[in-house]
This record gives sequence, C-alpha cells and structure tokens, in this order.
Amino acid sequence: MSATRALIVGPAWVGDMVMAHSLFQLLKARDPDRALDLIAPPATLPLAARMPEIADTIALAIPHGRLALRERLQLGRRLRERHYAQAYILPRSYKSALPAWASGATRRTGYLGEARYGLVNDIRREPAGSKLKTVERFLLLGLEPGEPLPEIPAPRLRADPEAGRRCAERFGIDLTAPLLALCPGAEYGPAKRWPARHFARLARTYHDRGWRVLALGGPRDQEIARAIGTLSEGACANLTGQTTLLEAVDLLALATAVVSNDSGLMHVAASLHKPMAAVFGSSDPRHTPPLDDRAVTVTLGLECSPCFARTCPLGHLRCLEDLTPERVEEALEVTMEAPRATVRIDSQRRPSPPSP
Ligand code: SF4
Repeated sequence: MSATRALIVGPAWVGDMVMAHSLFQLLKARDPDRALDLIAPPATLPLAARMPEIADTIALAIPHGRLALRERLQLGRRLRERHYAQAYILPRSYKSALPAWASGATRRTGYLGEARYGLVNDIRREPAGSKLKTVERFLLLGLEPGEPLPEIPAPRLRADPEAGRRCAERFGIDLTAPLLALCPGAEYGPAKRWPARHFARLARTYHDRGWRVLALGGPRDQEIARAIGTLSEGACANLTGQTTLLEAVDLLALATAVVSNDSGLMHVAASLHKPMAAVFGSSDPRHTPPLDDRAVTVTLGLECSPCFARTCPLGHLRCLEDLTPERVEEALEVTMEAPRATVRIDSQRRPSPPSP
C-alpha cells in the first residue's frame, strides 16, 4: 500500500459527481493509505464534504465553458508541491486535463476525449461496441487496463440529519408528517422535465393524504416549482433556489419518498437510499440509472425514445406528457412497500413486483 496522494479531476454535473463516488470508493478500498484530492467546479465540489474518501478539495472557480488556459495551468502548477503519482481525469474535455498535466502527476489516467494525447498519458478506451453506463466508465479508470469491471459500489452520500432538521425548521416544514420531496428540474433541458401539472396532481394527492410536499432544486427550477405550487393549490412548498446543494442533500435524507426527473438530485436521492420514482423522458434509464435498489425508473418506452434531445424534436413531448401521475404514483407505492432488495433499478415500463 502506498502513502502517496492522487488527484482526481471531478465532473461538473451534480449527477456525475454522485456517480463518481463509486470510483472514489473503489480507489480507497484498493489503497486505503493513499489520500485522494478532488478538483472540481463550485457547482459540484461541495458534495465532497459528504464523501469521506476525499481528503482535500481544490476549487476550480472558472465559469463553465471557458478555456481559461492560464488559470488552469497556474492552478496545476500550484499543486506540484503535492507530488501526485497519479491523476484520474473524469471529464473528457481538453481543458479539464490541463491542471492535472500542469501538476506534474506522473500517471494521468483518462479517456482520450478531445484528442488529449500527452495531457493524458494513460489513455483508456471503452471496450469496442460496449454501451457502458456512466458509472462504469468512471470505474474503468480505477482499474488496470483489461481488468473486468467489479460489482459496482453504489454511491452513498453521508447526509447530516441534524442540519436537515434545522433547514426544515427554517422553512416551516412539519417533519411529523410523511414527507414527499419533488425534484422537478433538469439542467439538461425541457425534454427531461415532467410537466408541472403532473407534479402538481401528485403533490395534491399526497397532500390530501396528510403528507407534506416540497420542491427542491436550484434557482433555474423556481419557475416550474412555482407552477406546481399554483396548479396544486398550495399543496407543494417551494424551496427551489433557496437552499444550498448540501442543504438539499440533507432535506432529501429526511424525505419519506422522492419523485424526480432524471437529474442531479435524482442521483443524490438514490445515493441516500430513498424510495424514489425517477421519471425519464428523452434520456435512457439504462445509461444513467439511479444506482439504488429502492429507486424505480418510470418511462413510456416510446419508439422515438430515447432521443437524448434537450427539447423534443417532434414538438409534442409525448414521452413525458403522456406519462400520467397515476403511473408514477403506482411506481412510488411499489418501491415504498417492497422489501428493499426486490425492486429492480433498471425496470422500465413498470416497476418489478416484489418477489413472492
Ligand atoms: S422525440 Fe420522443 S423521446 Fe424525444 S423528446 Fe420527443 S417524445 Fe420524448
């Protein structure tokens, strides 16, 4: 076992960072004495506070999409004193590899991505014809070339329930009742967002049963959350844009159940082992499924799906418009009632029934 440090260049998307936790666990299990430092943008770096495998964090405070060559190289040079023997570069972009290269890390493992010859000197390739899940692509970086994939260690964020309770109190959320958390946003685009009226019907249904319902998300999710509040006639408290990412993690940890689009918070909720119905529209649940056996994916499986479009190229968004609240409620009820290990995470048209 080595007592060296390794640098990890982490993803810029919340969901990808949660899935990267599988790789962090694998690396730590294989070399417990090695310290893992994580470099990532402010949008995802806070999650490291809930991943005990990470020893130190380094903020990459450069706006999304900017090359900022000089800043990236300067940041890397500042890390030289840490004498990294190894860097793992999870994103595929050219710019993401620059700090790792400038840090002088001896072995820099990543995919070729944007022709990163030289920047990455341990280039990995996905097996020909393989359709790997995102989490599997990350895990391969932690293996030696040709080594078969091990069983995937599920991402498991550590929540802070006390912080969650304080946050709920701040927003006047009654925690004596069952709590349904809705995650109605999806940074990717409208083709991954279940319509507000469907969320609203579900919110009203559970509210009328005595549940508390709240919507979580970032500032860009405020509009749809407001619409849910209006359409549900006040059944859903809107917390979007009013919590930090870590507060959202801690509130999700207190939820009795979650309904989410295919989004970063979906992966957060799965990592917290919450009963969840995850609604998929234009994306593919086989590619980025929630990695937990209490999460059920719900999709209509139309002929045109998955199209991976940000907005519906056919203009009707039937994959989500026709996916009724009743269908999602049915999935949610199954996963709430089923013994834990019996709900398949890759179920599509219907949740798998509990084993007899
Ligand atoms: S083309 Fe089909 S899968 Fe793609 S967004 Fe439109 S309805 Fe959904």
